[in-house]
Amino acid sequence: MMKKLDKKASAYKIDLASVEGDGSFQCPKCGKSISPDDESEENYQILDTKVVNDELAELVISCAKCGSTIKLTGFQQSPDA
Ligand SMILES: [Zn+2]
Repeated sequence: MMKKLDKKASAYKIDLASVEGDGSFQCPKCGKSISPDDESEENYQILDTKVVNDELAELVISCAKCGSTIKLTGFQQSPDA
């Protein structure tokens, strides 16, 4: 199903496969450090998740500090990569 993207909303996109280290990254707008492993939701709020073949393919979060929408892709699909 195709969804039209609302171009008025400022959405950032981060490919976690290109992120070094433990997978944490900085908010593209305010620079706040966000770790996807942090499930406390103090740093971000999960808006949407997309699961393909029972694996997490996409995660849309909102930065708790500035409210930017950030789309995360590039989750590790298998350990043998
Ligand atoms: Zn932010």
